[in-house]
Amino acid sequence: MGSYREFHRRSIAERDSFWAEEAKLVYWHKPFGKVLDYSQPPFAKWFVGGETNLCYNALDRHLAARGKQKALVWISTEVDQTRSFTYEELFSEVNRTAAMMQSLGVGRGDRVIIYMPMIPEAAFAMLACARIGAIHSVVFGGFAAASLAARIDDARPALMITADGGSRMGKVVTYKSLVDEALKLAKHPPKKVLLFKRGLDPAMRIVEGRDVDWNSLEKNFSGKSVPCAWLESSEPSYILYTSGTTGHPKGVQRDVGGYAVALASSMRRIFCGEAGESMFTTSDIGWVVGHSYIIYAPLIAGMTTIMYEGVPIRPDAGIWWKIVQDYKVAVMFSAPTAVRVLKKHDPAFLKKYDLSSLKHLFLAGEPLDEPTHVWITEALGRPVIDHYWQTETGWPLLSAHPGVEKTPLKMGSPSFPVYGYDVRLLHEVTGKPVADGEKAVVTITPPLPPGCMTTVWGDDARFVKTYFNDFKGQLVYSTFDWGIRDKDGYYFILGRTDDVINVAGHRLGTREIEEAVSMHPDIAECAVVGVADELKGQMPLAFAVSKSNSFEKKKLEREIMETVDRQLGAIARPKAVHFVTLLPKTRSGKTLRRSIQALAEGRDPGDLTTIEDPNALEQIKQALHP
Ligand code: ATP
Ligand code: MG
Repeated sequence: MGSYREFHRRSIAERDSFWAEEAKLVYWHKPFGKVLDYSQPPFAKWFVGGETNLCYNALDRHLAARGKQKALVWISTEVDQTRSFTYEELFSEVNRTAAMMQSLGVGRGDRVIIYMPMIPEAAFAMLACARIGAIHSVVFGGFAAASLAARIDDARPALMITADGGSRMGKVVTYKSLVDEALKLAKHPPKKVLLFKRGLDPAMRIVEGRDVDWNSLEKNFSGKSVPCAWLESSEPSYILYTSGTTGHPKGVQRDVGGYAVALASSMRRIFCGEAGESMFTTSDIGWVVGHSYIIYAPLIAGMTTIMYEGVPIRPDAGIWWKIVQDYKVAVMFSAPTAVRVLKKHDPAFLKKYDLSSLKHLFLAGEPLDEPTHVWITEALGRPVIDHYWQTETGWPLLSAHPGVEKTPLKMGSPSFPVYGYDVRLLHEVTGKPVADGEKAVVTITPPLPPGCMTTVWGDDARFVKTYFNDFKGQLVYSTFDWGIRDKDGYYFILGRTDDVINVAGHRLGTREIEEAVSMHPDIAECAVVGVADELKGQMPLAFAVSKSNSFEKKKLEREIMETVDRQLGAIARPKAVHFVTLLPKTRSGKTLRRSIQALAEGRDPGDLTTIEDPNALEQIKQALHP
């Protein structure tokens, strides 16, 4: 095994030869002429002139060696079903789906919006788009009609694919009726809607002439094979809108060749997933993690990917670990929010199953506080790797690289810059690099590596203006996250640049205070926001979830304040600590700090279409105005 430092150095200093080597991990129908065209900064074109196809790399390429191996296992604890598909079977499902889509007029470059629950047909649809060169835009099932309509009007799809419904915590979530509503609101609705019926919503309406029944249509295309469209490396593969935590969603556009290479490479260098092994990513296909690490990367690597419909605590808090045992999962990928949910349950669930197949658990999506990192590491007895990335990057940007070198992990840190990324911490005002131990903005000096977004869909100017405009006079990509690097080179993410509290001139990241609050052993999780204060400008206000149901509020509040005093100093001490049983979060598990802050300051909480459980906001209101 080599050294991480040298690997990273080569990826920047000897960029072309480095990436030419990594590019051998994927199949090229036509070899590329040039590794990188960076003649129009900040737009990067990777593997210029090369022709490939994501679906070919995910399926066709494996048929000879692993046709009988499982490619996709779908487990639903919502409807108590398991379906699995070998590479051969998945290949024929995808071909049939591609033929169905073609029969509805979809061709290369056309957009297809996929608004589906976590069912195998959603994976067929994504891979079928990739096969024929159509551009998918998967919209997360939690979005409301207006949000869906906005995405329809931005992407202008030729086709929408949906299902009658999904299920969450045993309750039916109707998808089709929401699509109907969205299509009424949209200015550019597609002509056809392909509908997969699960029998979950018998009351669903059918619009004659527009809605096409999946099951009837597929009968016409059994055994049909559809050739792969060979796409130039920089042609778009998909559009994915960001979660919208910080406002308007942006249509992240991704390429074909660079993405395939980044994913294949990351499976080897970061995730250590080998062909024939299983990978279990607990995300949703509506998020970037689902695109990259439920669908494309594990299949490109020849693994068995596990797609899970359900929650981590039903039928009980051991379900994920049972899946790890039953399917000999080698690589698992989840989010800190899920771990915090499990933390509220009996840790015995983690000891009940044989987890010996598991090499690593990877966590991403939001800050992993040190106590949670320690807790899950001890409970699992396996290395837990925090890694940091964004919808925009498509794959990790900070991570440990166990496939390159087994560097020691530090709790609460996503380790080091991923190869290919020239990461710099720049001072928010001067734009100059800061010293170790100083908090600054995490930036990437372009070109962005393969796999990252290539532009904002339909709006090149917005790409430059949104991401490369934060430091006047310098063309650098801003992540809009705070970070700090310690003397050993480890990075820590301190939250988003707009999540800052200014207490009497001291700038404090909400994450730092949250971390301090979480140090109290009775706290499961918390959110800290800044609220206007006459004296100090702003004051932190904490909302905490206790591990137990019976506790003395005043006493716990005092202890938490003392903990914060000890960790950060009295300047960071929250004005008050309110106790709730859950925090308002997006469906992707991100705390809606802005909405909490708005409520605390008596303002409108804003767009709440992505909220997981509206009850949580009620609790915040209650806590603020008992
Ligand atoms: P929008 O950009 O529309 O507001 P979003 O930023 O919430 O949405 P994502 O791209 O899904 O949408 O989330 C990326 C963000 O999540 C990062 O910028 C960072 O703030 C946070 N994040 C992801 N992984 C980590 C991590 N390991 N540690 C800390 N923060 C993380
Ligand atoms: Mg973002």
